[in-house]
Amino acid sequence: MTRRERYDLDRIRNIGIIAHVDAGKTTLTERVLFHTGRIHRIGEVHDGTATTDFDPIEQRKGITINTAAVTCDWAGHRIHLIDTPGHADFTIEVERSLRVLDGAVVVLDGVAGVESQTETVWRQADRHHVPRLVFVNKLDRVGADFARAIGEVATRLRAKPVAITVPTYEDGVLTGVIDVVAMEHVTWPGDGVPSTPVRTPAVFDNWRERVLEAAADEDPEILAAVVEGRAVEPDRIWAALRRATIAGRIVPVLAGSAYKYRGVEPLLDAVVALLPSPRDRGGVDGELAALAFKIVFDEHGQLSFVRVYRGVLAKGDTVLAAGAERRLRVGRLVKLMAADREEVDELRAGEIGAVIGLPIAGGETLCSVDAPVVLEKIVAPEPVVRVAIEPKRSEDRQKFGIALGRMVAADPSLRLESDPETGQTLLAGMGQLHLDVRAEQLETEHGVGVTIGKPLVAYRTTLRKVARVEIRHVKQSGGPGQWAHVVLEVGPAESGAGLVFEHRIKGGALTREYIRGVETGVRAAMSNGLLGGHPVVDVKVVLIDGSTHVSDSSELAFAIAGGKAFNAAAAEAEPTLLEPIMHLEVSCREEDVGTVVGDLARRRGQVVELETRGDERVVRGEVPVAETFGYAGALGGMTHGRGRFTLEPARYAPV
Ligand code: GDP
Repeated sequence: MTRRERYDLDRIRNIGIIAHVDAGKTTLTERVLFHTGRIHRIGEVHDGTATTDFDPIEQRKGITINTAAVTCDWAGHRIHLIDTPGHADFTIEVERSLRVLDGAVVVLDGVAGVESQTETVWRQADRHHVPRLVFVNKLDRVGADFARAIGEVATRLRAKPVAITVPTYEDGVLTGVIDVVAMEHVTWPGDGVPSTPVRTPAVFDNWRERVLEAAADEDPEILAAVVEGRAVEPDRIWAALRRATIAGRIVPVLAGSAYKYRGVEPLLDAVVALLPSPRDRGGVDGELAALAFKIVFDEHGQLSFVRVYRGVLAKGDTVLAAGAERRLRVGRLVKLMAADREEVDELRAGEIGAVIGLPIAGGETLCSVDAPVVLEKIVAPEPVVRVAIEPKRSEDRQKFGIALGRMVAADPSLRLESDPETGQTLLAGMGQLHLDVRAEQLETEHGVGVTIGKPLVAYRTTLRKVARVEIRHVKQSGGPGQWAHVVLEVGPAESGAGLVFEHRIKGGALTREYIRGVETGVRAAMSNGLLGGHPVVDVKVVLIDGSTHVSDSSELAFAIAGGKAFNAAAAEAEPTLLEPIMHLEVSCREEDVGTVVGDLARRRGQVVELETRGDERVVRGEVPVAETFGYAGALGGMTHGRGRFTLEPARYAPV
């Protein structure tokens, strides 16, 4: 069979596995690759041999940091699988994956249920309208509770869960699952070893009624059959559930234990049967449009992961990098099997793969030269922590600069800043762990040893009041002069708005270029910052009026005037320092709750919610990022090493 014949858009699934850290994403990915025949030796996470965790740092830390795209086949379908990190510091990676996925499997720990990061990724998936399945994992563990997990999907995630498989136990040992659609008991011979599932008829129960109800909501024929007590074909039920899943009206839930090889094949069946193909997501016809959603650098140079939305990306073709209006020739194309690569001649609509060596940036669109298009960019969140960073050896300075540049290109949630007083290079990011990991990568991947300073808060500033200024920028001493006149009004905008820029220029008093110049100047002034160099966020700037000089006006002159006007107006608009506030979630034993809560109060934190989960207590709260440095060690001390926590940026508040 040729590749062309095998390619069938309806038989492609672009799927992400997303979850709270430790729920079992990596283990599940490993099992999926095993069952789909892509790997024969199983790597366990705790051995550091899992296939998707191929980065040496990931192997040591035992967490998944980079998103690896893996291709595998199941039941005549091609599945592109994206493994995503669960740690809040790497939320941008989840965001980027969601942007290019058509569906997701959300993994829950059967003991812990819905956790803080589960809620975060759920909200992210909602924002991107990604249909999903839930896999309740670790059901082999003592204290696992499938029904409770289902309940939490309804209450905490506000979704409508419908169980497709339900676990069965014998003497407390997980034996298999009931396939509620086929009404069969699926069991796996042996304990915790891979084996071929055996299916036997099962009796009807109340889980079955819920599936039928959900299907009947979609299909009047099923409703009639249920009312009249007639049997319904499983295929008809699947079709109804598929419609409901893709529309987001239900969330199918499956049960299992990835570690013990239980429930994974029915999950794959459900991925194929219920999650959308690229065609279901729409917009696949037309000229080439592809999005570079992740850039990595390794010994072979730049590897850019792309999702092709429309048309064909073929080796040897000349394409347009739309953002920058550059023409580029596509060299080698690959599909990825974790650390292995398979060279291909083309990537077609709906497919995910990578281009080798093309100098493009993360978030850039590749399109046909004849039909330019720019796909929506991926927005990076504002960094909350920064550290001073420098090479250990001064002769590494140049290498250090290149390595840092590449790292920032690859991870848009990182930012390079410079200390206005000392001129030191500052690396800003999503949290202490994020920066620690990236600093370590400079050493392990780029061979540049670095020293980093103490973590510092990435403060921001905003404005409290509205102020208006009029500025004339005039420089007319020999040579071409600079002349610009602007009237600018600045003031607060809503939280998260960044810059809202408007103008009220009438009758062409200023050209489009000059207006753009003013905006450029304002943006530069905002990033240079106020109150000691802290970047400005959430302001509204209105260009009220302006005028030009016959020969000496230019875009540059207006940019300078715009910057000066912004600074002058901001000084009168009550600039205020903002600090990042983090969401904190701690799980600990009952006897440690008092200590944890007391400590949180000393850190200027607030408890938002206290919850009991099995024999553990969960404390959810908010705390300024400045008070979270070194929290890992402190919590370890308070809980004798038993407490776990997650931190993620929540909002900004005045200091
Ligand atoms: P990730 O952080 O979500 O990628 O989670 P991992 O796959 O790294 O799993 C975290 C830990 O849970 C590892 O020690 C796994 O061996 C273990 N684990 C994963 N799945 C299961 C399961 O189904 N049952 C049990 N008992 N342990 C599991």
